[in-house]
Amino acid sequence: MGAGLSPSVRAAFAAIVGAANVLTDADARSGYERDWTGRFVGSTPAVVRPRSVDEVVDCVRLCAAEGLAVVPQGGNTGLVGGGVPLAGEVVLSTRRLDHLSAIDTVAAQVTAGAGVTLGAVQDAARAHGLRYAVDLAARHSATVGGTVATNAGGLHVVRYGATRAQLAGIEAVLGDGSVIRHLGGLAKDNTGYDLAGLLCGSEGTLAVVTAARLRLVPRPAHAVVALVGLPDPSTAVEAVAAWRAVLPDLEAAELFLAAGMNLVCDTVGLRPPFAARPPVYVLVEVAGAEDPTDRLAAALEGTGVEHDAVAVATDERRRAELWRYREEHTTAINTLGPPHKLDVTLPLGALGRFVDEVPGIVAAVAPAARTWLFGHVGDGNVHVNVTGLAPDDDRVDGAVLEAVAGRGGSISAEHGIGTAKRRWLALNRSPAELAAFAALKHALDPAGILNPAVLLG
Ligand SMILES: Cc1cc2nc3c(=O)[nH]c(=O)nc-3n(C[C@H](O)[C@H](O)[C@H](O)COP(=O)(O)OP(=O)(O)OC[C@H]3O[C@@H](n4cnc5c(N)ncnc54)[C@H](O)[C@@H]3O)c2cc1C
Repeated sequence: MGAGLSPSVRAAFAAIVGAANVLTDADARSGYERDWTGRFVGSTPAVVRPRSVDEVVDCVRLCAAEGLAVVPQGGNTGLVGGGVPLAGEVVLSTRRLDHLSAIDTVAAQVTAGAGVTLGAVQDAARAHGLRYAVDLAARHSATVGGTVATNAGGLHVVRYGATRAQLAGIEAVLGDGSVIRHLGGLAKDNTGYDLAGLLCGSEGTLAVVTAARLRLVPRPAHAVVALVGLPDPSTAVEAVAAWRAVLPDLEAAELFLAAGMNLVCDTVGLRPPFAARPPVYVLVEVAGAEDPTDRLAAALEGTGVEHDAVAVATDERRRAELWRYREEHTTAINTLGPPHKLDVTLPLGALGRFVDEVPGIVAAVAPAARTWLFGHVGDGNVHVNVTGLAPDDDRVDGAVLEAVAGRGGSISAEHGIGTAKRRWLALNRSPAELAAFAALKHALDPAGILNPAVLLG
């Protein structure tokens, strides 16, 4: 039995979800206690795995009655220490809430249980010539509930927006066990507060999301990917702005640097794409009903891109090969030890200079640390990864986040605040905003049992 859970509480959980879905053995719990990066490791008295919204209600009510704090957890791919039990909370795993409705092809929508993975939504949509606009490298583990809770961004924000823009409704269990269900998916529905929008990005602090109504978009018939070598980050930002102006169907614009390219090639065993080693790489994807290859080529030529620093792919296999140079960054960096992950947005006009400056900001605090930069350049979003630091040494985190805020940026572009960035939330949010946050928290989770260590702390 896990420490801290009395036999009667354990029996009460078992009566709700079945004894097989109350995990108290150390081996069974361990995968839920450690985050994807390995930087955040906690301990829980029990992992409970409800299968229905009613079971979630009963679990939340039991926790409230017993004064037990709860961490909702989906795929456990979050990168800010928000989904693991760092303060001894009960873990409420949503993975068994995995019901996916039939695709509504008339509305182009689907209702997905919180535990459905993004990959499963994509597979179901594909069969109907549709797709879900939120896509990210952790697609086969990250869940609908987790992506709603973090307002996940991903690879296509530049065209479709983040998760909040795809939400047509929500079902969730509040901290007192009451259920809000608004899954009708109406295109127009101005009947008061937008609770789906509020819960999206609330990081499990206001409610346990149990299902979401998601908008789908047409699956484009044609797509083309180009990997482009460029001389410096500011040129890359300007080039993407120019391409965007003439390519309204630009789906992705991802930036990474020579060091990251080398690390990925060495770690995964890929061949570098070009004979020369340009300092900066940008991967762009354009997709639509008509073949966009010629328009992309013209756009690249318009910005003077060198022919020997471009690789273009139109067929699916080769496109996926080019994407690997970008998507393998997260995994390759993790092989160097638990990284500090600082996911930030800069005003586009300040992004290129920030990318140049940030290794120096890190080195000034921790000379032996290494900085790895990649991100969604079309959104002004760069992931600053720092390796070679102790997990609890957050001096670099502070220096980088203060530099971001000082340049008018956001300390969290898409991963959330979690526990990792809680200390610095006031860099971006005023006292009045934080007071409003606290009032919302108290209203929706009066006992303060949902993710009490996350966001507001
Ligand atoms: C390789 C890799 C690539 C990634 N790429 C991106 C990217 O491009 N864009 C991006 O935005 N993120 C990215 N991420 C981060 C991560 O995938 C997202 O944050 C994702 O939304 C987390 O989903 P999850 O199901 O794993 O949630 P978890 O990690 O389980 O939880 C994340 C947070 O949401 C809360 N939560 C989870 N489920 C619920 C629920 N049902 N109700 C209420 N709260 C809940 C948790 O308590 C926690 O605070 C990446 C991660 C990896 C490992």
